[in-house]
Amino acid sequence: MAERRVVRYDTALGWLRGVGDKRQRDLRRDGIACVEELLFHLPFRYEDRSRFAPVADLRPGERVSVQGRVVAPRLLRTRRRGFTIFRMIVEDDSGALTAIWFNQPYLERLFPEGSLVILYGEASVGRQAALTLQMENAEYEVVTSESGDEPTLHTGRVVPIYRRTGGLSSRRLRRLVHNALQDLSPTLPDPLPRALRERMSLLGRREAFERIHFPPPEEPLAPYQDGTSEAHRRLAFEELFFLQLGLALRRQGVRAEARGTAFAMTPAIRERLKRVLPFRLTGGQRQALQEILADLRSPHPMHRLLQGDVGCGKTIVALLAALLVIANGHQAAFMAPTEVLAEQHFLGLRRLLDGSGVRLGLFTKGGKAAERREREAALAAGEIDLAIGTHALIQEEIRFARLGLAIIDEQHRFGVVQRQSLRGKGASPDLLVMTATPIPRSLALTVYGDLDVSSIRELPPGRTPVRTHLRGPESRGQILEFLRREVQAGRQAYVVFPLVEETEKSDLKAATEGAERLANDLPGITLGLLHGRLKSAEKEVAMAAFVAGEAQVLVATTVIEVGIDVPNANLIVIEHAERFGLSQLHQLRGRVGRAEHPSHCILLTSSAAPGEDARARLEAMVATHDGFRIAEEDLRLRGPGDFFGTRQWGLPPLRVANLLRDRLLLETAREAAAEWSGAIAAGRGPGLEELLARVRAAWGARLGVAAAG
Ligand code: ADP
Ligand code: MG
Repeated sequence: MAERRVVRYDTALGWLRGVGDKRQRDLRRDGIACVEELLFHLPFRYEDRSRFAPVADLRPGERVSVQGRVVAPRLLRTRRRGFTIFRMIVEDDSGALTAIWFNQPYLERLFPEGSLVILYGEASVGRQAALTLQMENAEYEVVTSESGDEPTLHTGRVVPIYRRTGGLSSRRLRRLVHNALQDLSPTLPDPLPRALRERMSLLGRREAFERIHFPPPEEPLAPYQDGTSEAHRRLAFEELFFLQLGLALRRQGVRAEARGTAFAMTPAIRERLKRVLPFRLTGGQRQALQEILADLRSPHPMHRLLQGDVGCGKTIVALLAALLVIANGHQAAFMAPTEVLAEQHFLGLRRLLDGSGVRLGLFTKGGKAAERREREAALAAGEIDLAIGTHALIQEEIRFARLGLAIIDEQHRFGVVQRQSLRGKGASPDLLVMTATPIPRSLALTVYGDLDVSSIRELPPGRTPVRTHLRGPESRGQILEFLRREVQAGRQAYVVFPLVEETEKSDLKAATEGAERLANDLPGITLGLLHGRLKSAEKEVAMAAFVAGEAQVLVATTVIEVGIDVPNANLIVIEHAERFGLSQLHQLRGRVGRAEHPSHCILLTSSAAPGEDARARLEAMVATHDGFRIAEEDLRLRGPGDFFGTRQWGLPPLRVANLLRDRLLLETAREAAAEWSGAIAAGRGPGLEELLARVRAAWGARLGVAAAG
């Protein structure tokens, strides 16, 4: 056996037995540069190879592991050019089965006649010889081809199965992880504070790594398979604790930032705010406003999330906050994710601010370059008080004279970095981010862990709930008839087509053709068309016509998904509804039900029988209006992998923890993080330096924690 080397968690992989230069490079490219990163590449499942199913006992449809010898391996070329089939027989003491793979010609070299292999897959009835069973595209491992390898590592026990990474097969990774664990120095410190480990009865780190990769034979396997073993719990907790600690430290750091501005509230200013209010605020709005104003009046910069379901009235709250800042001689920025929405905010706020003396500017990509430069100059000179715009606001050339408050609408459409860049346009300005996307608490704790949160829970009075109907293509005529009646009664309607990617030509075609067809079907009714590919000016015209009631029906793609507010519209027809996600449907439905007129949302499927998943989504929409319940349902239907893609929220992906499964652990981690960040702030307790160093190493760049603590 090769010589042993002692390694530590931060040892570069090149030090491990069996890792040469090339392999080291390949692994690094896949994010694995040191021993710790290798150990965090967890098995995605385990296979009990202490026992294999005898081939003769297999039933079609069963997923099993079998072990046997390769007989008659053949690479077959088919008539279709470039299409290959690799086929072999695998024989054990009880019988034989056929194994085939499509388009993997290299397998020929991997499986020489007579070699011992393990296959994992689903048995099915063979195509050619109906009497034998076969496995298509099975996962495989060659047991005997690697010389000098102890076979006991790969068979005769529970073995970990890894996703291929750095060009390495599951088998090679298993060997590598095994070597790393064997060579790991016995005296490595545990990054989790001992007190915390003891309080939570967590396994030691090293032991957790050992068990998670090679579960002890006496332990039941099920908790490992579903990620709830003690080893998983320990490593997931560590991950969540350091993430939460990073977020807590950032929150602390922002609070302690030397010079935020303390804006003053005077009776005169209070009067000014009252004058722009077109209605009485709801209790929820008042509460949120008070929390925000308190932050603005304190010398520490605000870092606050305002969340509330679609239509609850977040815009006005943000506007009042902006007015306080403006009355104190500072500027405010209001950033929205789409041009259509920025435009709408601009028009709406301009109307509310008419006669107030507040100077507004709209900043989008569109318009003439000369005019844009003029506006930029005015902003830099402090001649614009409220800048409303899209991403254009965070471009290099945009300068504020005295940015006091940065507001980000529909914040889930932006990343952490964009949020910070808008803030970077001023000297420690206050930050208010808003979102209607209701997210389950566990996700909120993670992605918004560094923000204080205000929630608006009720809708303004006088809204009637939207009635939701699920219909197939056969109802089209009836729906159009209904639409015509509503329009004749003075209402307006949206007809929405899916456009998942603004660049999808085929989708765009479907939307424009849909509009043409509607124009034919609805003679005498004025239609507007709105999609992301239109020029800014064209979008403006289309939106303005709809807002003014000149267009009665707006045929649109999902550009209207967020924020659009036309209270007179009371009907939304969503074409190809099965193609939308739940949260998206909920946002779209939020476009109606904004006034006293009874409102309807019609989910029109393109086939009479949409798939099972789609059906479940659509039925959930019909059954509930509660954004929070919809978010939970979305999570349940899509599974955590998708919904909880932390990456889309600007956070690094979690390697062990699963926010759905580990909700309770997350809560505990957050509480513990608050405790330890408090200790760090107060400078008391042992080992705080190491803790800080660890947070910085793990999350520093992503969270900007380096400045904290
Ligand atoms: P969202 O929270 O989804 O951004 P908006 O701010 O667009 O919601 O408000 C939705 C609609 O409700 C707007 O037409 C707005 O003028 C209206 N609105 C907001 N607050 C109130 C209120 N307190 N009373 C009556 N209408 C309100
Ligand atoms: Mg809004």
